[in-house]
Amino acid sequence: MTLLVQKFGGTSVGSPDRIREVADYVARSQRRGNRIVLVASAMGKETDELLRLADQVASSKPGREMDMLITGGERKACALLSMALHDRGVDADSFTGSQAGFVTDTNHQNAKIIKLQPSRIRQALDAGRVPVVGGSQGVSTDSNVTFLGRGGSDTTAVALADALNADACELYTDVPGVFSTDPRLVPNARRIDKISFDELLEMTATGCPKPAMRSVEYARAYGVKLHVRSAFSWVPGTWVTEEGSMENALISAVTHDTSEAKMTVSGVIDRPGVAATLFRTLADADVNIDMIVQNVSEQGHTDISFTVPHQQVDKATAAVDSILDVLGAAGVVADRQVARVSLIGAGMRTNPGVAATMFETLANNGINIEMISTSAIRVSCVVRETQVEQAVASLHDAFELHIPPQNRAHI
Ligand code: ADP
Ligand code: ASP
Ligand code: MG
Repeated sequence: MTLLVQKFGGTSVGSPDRIREVADYVARSQRRGNRIVLVASAMGKETDELLRLADQVASSKPGREMDMLITGGERKACALLSMALHDRGVDADSFTGSQAGFVTDTNHQNAKIIKLQPSRIRQALDAGRVPVVGGSQGVSTDSNVTFLGRGGSDTTAVALADALNADACELYTDVPGVFSTDPRLVPNARRIDKISFDELLEMTATGCPKPAMRSVEYARAYGVKLHVRSAFSWVPGTWVTEEGSMENALISAVTHDTSEAKMTVSGVIDRPGVAATLFRTLADADVNIDMIVQNVSEQGHTDISFTVPHQQVDKATAAVDSILDVLGAAGVVADRQVARVSLIGAGMRTNPGVAATMFETLANNGINIEMISTSAIRVSCVVRETQVEQAVASLHDAFELHIPPQNRAHI
């Protein structure tokens, strides 16, 4: 018998109608002989609403209380889904993360799973029941409720699929799979049938919200078969595999990210150890650095720019301010009006023309490139935020990502 872990995202269980439809689908899936474990996200935008509620009530928001609050969204969804299943004659039991066996570290709001012993889930399955697990939650080593962070329900599902040795982990969402770019921005974006973990990881690291990056890392590390698909049309979606795309695409996707700011430290003395001091100080302040660019030096001084998440700009500014004299620097400024556009494709490993075509396309659209970074299968450019949608659309067009790879012209 096939064992499937099926996770339903916020929109997929966003209303009573949606919950009933999901329950119909699960009932059909079970009648076909599958054994099923469900993972539910909070309904619709409930997580955002709970976060807003906390903001309205208090300025001190202890992590322990925040996690108790946020995980309530997933508890509510899995209890409702379980009830809808009962209505359809399917024996189902809802479980909190703790009851499902998720033990985490004590890092509230972004806890990491350190142990998973899903004995109650196995018992329910053995009794022919459908377990419905609250996503993105667990219990910490000091016995408090923890939240695994935004998008954590994907990780809950992948971890369960691994621990239960499931045949596949199906992530149901509001689009029918992983697309060549965000279908909200580019209407002719193309669904990718099969994508490699490497490419999907680069996509999720550069702004693609689906699936959550941690879940992709987890699935790759433990060899979990991932299937990203629609909870609205029930047609097969995108399979994520180790061996990668059978399509031999040069480029698979364009992603974009508006969540980072560009910080520039100006007039830094150009001598050994200065960059080390700067980035050690930022690391000690827990600032996540992404792209880094150092300009050519003029008269012994240079500028260093790097990107950081918007929420960390204040922390990063304070850290750099505290060492301005050690760096011999004139000052530090943050620019939040930037965005990153990235091109991802395993085929670029062996094709040196990709970066040039990308830069030409941006230039032809009057888009200035402020920073560049590359990996073996990715090229990213920082551009003005106001131009990022145009950058995404023009690159998607230039690389013909709307048509099947075998029909694309060579670049
Ligand atoms: P869920 O709540 O179901 O876990 P999210 O709302 O976090 O899912 O993510 C799904 C959304 O991600 C889609 O509605 C889609 O607009 C957006 N998205 C952005 N880029 C892509 C992409 N390349 N492929 C698929 N979806 C994408
Ligand atoms: N509901 C949480 C969020 O919106 C967790 C999840 O759905 O993965 O981030
Ligand atoms: Mg979501």
